[in-house]
This record gives sequence, structure tokens and C-alpha cells, in this order.
Amino acid sequence: MTAVPSDFYERVIKTFDSAVESGDLVYSKSTSKDANVDGLNYHYEIVPALATKPSTKSLETENDAVITEERNKPVKPFDPFDPPHPKLLVLDQYNSDYAVVLNKFAVVPCHFLLVTREFQPQNAPLNPSDLEASYLLLKAANSQSGKRHIGFFNSGPNSGASVAHRHIQFVALPEGFKPFPDEVAVSTKAAREYSDGQKPLTHDLPKFAHFIVPIHETEQDDLGFRFSTLLSRALTTLRENESKSISYNFLFTEEWFMIVPRSSESVDDLSINSMGVIGLLLAKGEDELERIEEKGPSSILESVGFPVHVENEQEYDY
Ligand code: AMP
Repeated sequence: MTAVPSDFYERVIKTFDSAVESGDLVYSKSTSKDANVDGLNYHYEIVPALATKPSTKSLETENDAVITEERNKPVKPFDPFDPPHPKLLVLDQYNSDYAVVLNKFAVVPCHFLLVTREFQPQNAPLNPSDLEASYLLLKAANSQSGKRHIGFFNSGPNSGASVAHRHIQFVALPEGFKPFPDEVAVSTKAAREYSDGQKPLTHDLPKFAHFIVPIHETEQDDLGFRFSTLLSRALTTLRENESKSISYNFLFTEEWFMIVPRSSESVDDLSINSMGVIGLLLAKGEDELERIEEKGPSSILESVGFPVHVENEQEYDY
């Protein structure tokens, strides 16, 4: 494993500033609002730049080679990460197989992505090498910036993903924001005592199925095992609910991994991705924020996930 350069975050900031300056990165300042609804924390970010984000329709076309009617030849769909835009590139080669690039349509400053140098599909599971590269990048971003970052991977047509080339995203959490998995997986007895093969942890309040595992060891194989534990629970939920697609959000911090199986990408035109499932809700304007508040954040998240299924130990198997 190649170490993350010691000036990595400095490069992120420099590349971000110059790409904003040159117009290669679309970043509009946002306003935000914090709320606690029914015991859960939410942070609403009102981001006009979201209006230019590609829709999930582009993922649907990128998943399969498009066949032109006239010539019956496969056409390579547009891939924003092959190659990454040079003005957005932070590391052109990290751990041999990856590059780090800034998000062209940033919802928060310094939103960066780990992308595979060769095309790998977004709808295939992450492998131990992806997980280790992601985890080390997150750790370096935290220690070099002094901010706490969250990593996330939107996979499948209902996950909020819009690009078919494998990418794992990173943003700094809003100052003081505590995502709900912290309450079960940071400094708790259950987190300390959690061991491989055990049933994942859950939080009592969210009304959607979610599975959390604490992270103790950070070798590739340990991360891979914890991820496969979560993926297996997500697949069971999808199967039990007769889902037609495999869609989930995977999120991680230094302390935990979480997976949220997804039943739909949006509700009433409100698109939800990984950030949404921990309560970081993005709105395209004040009107959209009003709609989110009226509908209620927990009801929105309930609609795009699956019901919580309380299992007894006998039912639990891989
Ligand atoms: P997702 O929508 O979760 O698949 O994430 C893909 C991200 O890539 C989105 O947040 C887009 O804003 C971002 N993106 C789209 N085109 C580019 C590009 N050319 N360079 C860098 N990031 C991009």
C-alpha cells in the first residue's frame, strides 16, 4: 500500500481554489440550517449548484453500452473519470490503481473522490483493496485537515448514483454534526465488544433498515470482512422485500461502516443519496427545503429505504 502523501490535503485545497478560480469546478456557496426531529440530527444544506448535477438517467444509460440504431455499433458512454479532468486531479496515481479527483459540482468545499484508474463498475461490490485505499485516504484527510470526514459509495439505480465508473466520495462533516451511527458505534460497550461474524448494530430511531459495524482492525482483510457482513444484510433485506435491483448506500468514518439498502432514488422529486441517510439533506433552494420540512425528514428517509425488520438470533444467518 502506497502511503497517502503528507501534503495530500494541501493539494486538495490548492486544486479546489484554482479550479473554482478557472471555472473548471462549479461551486456555489450554500446556506445551512440544523434541526433535531424526533431525536435525530439533520443538517439542511441549500445548494443551488445541485441544479446542474447529472440525473440518475445517465447512470442507466452508462450501465449498458448504448447501441446506435443506424450502425449497430456499441458507443462508449461518457465517463467523467476516464481520464479525470486535469484541473480537478489531486493525485494522478495513488496505490497504483486509483486517482483522486475533485467533484466538478461541489456541494461543499473540497469534496473529493477516489476513482479507479481503469474502468470498474459502480454497481459491483467494493473489494478489500478499494476499502483499504478509501480508509487510508479518509484517515489522512482527517489528520491533515483537522476536520472529520465521511466517505460514501452510492451503488445501484436507487442509490442516488449518477456515474457508472467506480468512485468513492469524501466530504468533511459539518462542524459539530454527529451522525446517528456514532451513538451506537463510538465509545459504546456494544462497539468495543463487537467481533467478526456478529450481527451488525442498529440505532433505534431511524425508520429505515440500516446496518452498522464498528471498525477495530484496518487491514484489507478485516475491512473486507466487515463490508461483506454489511452487504450480506443489505442483500437479505433486498431479497425479503423482492427488490428488482441491488441498490444501497455505504458510508464510513474511521470508527464505523454502515450500509442502507434502498428501495427508491427519490420521493416527490427529492433525490436522496448517502449523505441524506445520515441526515445531511441537500435542497436545490428554499422551496425544496420547505417541502422537505413539510414532509418531514424521517418520513422521506423511510420512503426511500426499507422497513426495519426486527430479527431474532435464530433468523440471523448469512
Ligand atoms: P454520484 O452521483 O453519487 O454517482 O457521484 C458522482 C459525482 O461525480 C457527482 O457528485 C458529480 O457531481 C460528480 N461529477 C460529475 N462529472 C464530473 C467530472 N467530470 N469530474 C468530477 N466529478 C464529476
